[in-house]
Amino acid sequence: MTLDNRLGQRFLPYGANYLAWSDMTELKEVIDHQVLFRYQTETESMASRLERQVCERLGAVHTLAVHNCTEALRLALISTRPSIGDLVYIPAVTFVAVAGAVLSCGLIPVLVDADDSLSLDASLLPSGAQRVITAHMEGTVAPLPMGVPYLIEDCAQSLGARFPDGRHVGTKGYAGTFSFHHNKVLTSGEGGLLVTGDDDAWATMRCYHDHGSARVPGRYPTWNPDAHYGENFVTSEQVAAVQCQQFRHLDELLAGLERMYAIAMAQTPGRLDLEVRPRAEGDVKLSLRFRCESRELRDAAVTALTAEGIANWTLGKYLLPEHPVLTGRSSLYADGFPWNHAPEGPLALSRDGFARTRDQLERTLCVPLSPELSEPEQVLAAKAVRRVLEAV
Ligand SMILES: *Cc1c(COP(=O)(O)O)cnc(C)c1O
Repeated sequence: MTLDNRLGQRFLPYGANYLAWSDMTELKEVIDHQVLFRYQTETESMASRLERQVCERLGAVHTLAVHNCTEALRLALISTRPSIGDLVYIPAVTFVAVAGAVLSCGLIPVLVDADDSLSLDASLLPSGAQRVITAHMEGTVAPLPMGVPYLIEDCAQSLGARFPDGRHVGTKGYAGTFSFHHNKVLTSGEGGLLVTGDDDAWATMRCYHDHGSARVPGRYPTWNPDAHYGENFVTSEQVAAVQCQQFRHLDELLAGLERMYAIAMAQTPGRLDLEVRPRAEGDVKLSLRFRCESRELRDAAVTALTAEGIANWTLGKYLLPEHPVLTGRSSLYADGFPWNHAPEGPLALSRDGFARTRDQLERTLCVPLSPELSEPEQVLAAKAVRRVLEAV
């Protein structure tokens, strides 16, 4: 495969995937075992192995595998035992799944404007905020607000990122959520993880995710007299197997990104109107993030890169104050639930009606880094990006 093909092929340009028959040992194990349901077995299931390995690698106390990160967010929220209509502060710049998770739990999202790194600006939060979801977007480590009892870190785009003190994202708040969707750092097609350091929360999450039961692995579920209802978020062994396989490549992937980041930072286009924003040490180096002088320049750069088959993306799609799911306040419930519980007026915290954030998003351009390429290929790729951007 030529370099151009390999770069151009990255339709959804986050994680390299390491799918190869020769490497699917966990999947083979599951098939040989002839059991795809995690609770069918009394010995350690593949899902339990995944959870154990994630705990070890990320320094998390408890991990629960679910079908996707949206479920993980819902589970984290519901485990806080909220009341219908309670407010949840969420980033104004993130994927709409965060808002959907909040609303589908009967809660009301309040959009909090972004800081200069496009992360939730904690200085805008009211004192006494009970529930906050912050998102570490695109491998960028967001600063965390202090003193929030239910702080949920959405790490869908930042598996492997670390805070300045070395701890992993997702392990500092009440709960952390991760995604193995196609478009993320590692992938099993769909897949999600929920981590928490809170023993009671974990017991509640585990119970709710399996029909409210107090199941013992290897047995039919049982319900305690005080059981509450739940749903079915229980993962499958074959998905867990692919996640274990993917997870084995995390260090290789992070190292590949670091290597290409260093190469690309030495090859940045020599122009002041198209600047790379340096990333923090603990970030996952998923992309080069450019800040252009004008929207026109950004759009021209997108066109030029795309014409050369070089993957790139912009972040305007994440501006939730303009997302139909939030502006329309629609619901499938006949009474408009849960919007019918929302306070009047804008559910937004911004000093300027999101003007500065909108402007930043319009001038931002991201070019993915490719961890799976060899070093010479990464040099070629970085030079190709530079050549295109210098000619815009
Ligand atoms: C992708 C994503 C989600 C949702 O993850 P799924 O696993 O697809 O449900 C949530 N939050 C952010 C920031 C995301 O990028």
